Amino acid sequence: KVRVRFAPSPTGPLHIGGVRTALFNYLFAKKHGGDFILRIEDTDQNRYVEGAEQYIIDSLNWCGIPFDEGIGKDGGHGPYRQSERKSIYKKYADELIKNGKAYYAFDSSESLDAHRKNHEEKGKTFIYNWHNRLKLDNSLSLMPEEVQQRLDNGDEFVIRFLNPPDEKLELTDIIRGSIQIDTNVLDDKVLFKSDGMPTYHLANVVDDHLMEITHVIRGEEWLPSLALHKQLYDAFGWDSPEFAHLPLIMKPIGKGKLSKRDGEKLGFPVFPLSWNESVGYKEEGYFPEAVVNFLALLGWNPGTEQELFSLDELVAAFSLERVNKSGARFDPEKTKWYNQHYLQQTPDVELAKSFLPIVKEQITNESYVNIEYVTKVVALIKERAVFVSDFWELSDYFFVAPKEYNEKATKKQLKEDTADIMNDLIATIKTIKDFSSENTETLVKAWIAEKELSFGKVMPPLRLFLVGDMKGPHIFDIMSMIGREESISRIETALN
Ligand code: GLU
Repeated sequence: KVRVRFAPSPTGPLHIGGVRTALFNYLFAKKHGGDFILRIEDTDQNRYVEGAEQYIIDSLNWCGIPFDEGIGKDGGHGPYRQSERKSIYKKYADELIKNGKAYYAFDSSESLDAHRKNHEEKGKTFIYNWHNRLKLDNSLSLMPEEVQQRLDNGDEFVIRFLNPPDEKLELTDIIRGSIQIDTNVLDDKVLFKSDGMPTYHLANVVDDHLMEITHVIRGEEWLPSLALHKQLYDAFGWDSPEFAHLPLIMKPIGKGKLSKRDGEKLGFPVFPLSWNESVGYKEEGYFPEAVVNFLALLGWNPGTEQELFSLDELVAAFSLERVNKSGARFDPEKTKWYNQHYLQQTPDVELAKSFLPIVKEQITNESYVNIEYVTKVVALIKERAVFVSDFWELSDYFFVAPKEYNEKATKKQLKEDTADIMNDLIATIKTIKDFSSENTETLVKAWIAEKELSFGKVMPPLRLFLVGDMKGPHIFDIMSMIGREESISRIETALN
């Protein structure tokens, strides 16, 4: 059975790229009838941020991609927080030591810093591995009793992976194919520290094994760790899961990875939900379906022209083979395009429910503040909206008489005879009994014909008087909505 995991570290809010990783895991799991597991990788206590774990869970839920197994959803492979699995890892570190796959090292951080600096001065990078490990403070150059002595003394130590020289590793990534690595360029990575905590590498591999993960789907930034992880699976004699490293999400303009700063500079969210001062997609007014849809196409393509996908359609169409190798450029305009689409798909009454509180804030007129009226308004104006928060500006004249009139339009549309014509129109409007849009249109047009007026003399000033501008839907729809009295009153106000 397919089992995949999303394994974030709770070091802050989940970046939109992290949501994409979670989404691809979710899609892959659902496609194969498998399970999507959430594991919290909180071994680095220094980087732990309060509230981040809950933020991650809330984000997945809001996106509609909940995990099947994880915190609060036991699937028999818990606990699902690495800090609660602390006791598990030591045993595996010991096993590697016993098998000669890892060793103790007692270098102080000062001495390592000195080595690093020394190398830098010569323009080289310090790699802790086979070519210098014997000159460093490691157990391989000590007698076993000496090692034990130091451990008993409580000396600070780390356990390092014994990376073998001169081996050619053959790695496989579902997206990238086969990758060759020469072990000479790899360092003896730290697996365990004397504070009793494993590092990311050991904990990650042990947990993926114990949690029976079949596919590791994660960001490209972890590709350099693949060699070590593969070596660890081999060292333990475990079957390794399959790996897929997702392409980076790139800045909208320029080079490099999408960052929080890009969002601030260009004014778009980079987090699913708000976090401190950063407004999230949710609070900005995005539909989760739109966010999921645009994220799915960041680095994946269906092989067709189709751009709009429901979550079910994504599950059906998704495959890791169709994930691109190269970075995916983030396009904030496209996210809006998706949102506009999903807004049009949302039933008017649902949109009206979200819009009603905004209307209430703006006006007190009871006759307009009701769901029926607001639903009708939404139906007339939503076409042009990207967010519900656009509604008020697009529809204020349905609720309040214009306070000012577009200057340019006033100059252009108002002629000497406008007042006479409009007064005559008021008289006509007063006689209309059935004030439906259609009937009003028929009767007003009949009056125009009878008086041998042109449309241009009537319609533009009428719109300007009712709306305050030349915008808006069909003018007779507007008149019918606001009603006869209000229509007349607005024309009269404009004329005075
Ligand atoms: N804890 C790692 C992260 O924060 C997980 C990497 C992985 O999926 O192996 O991204």
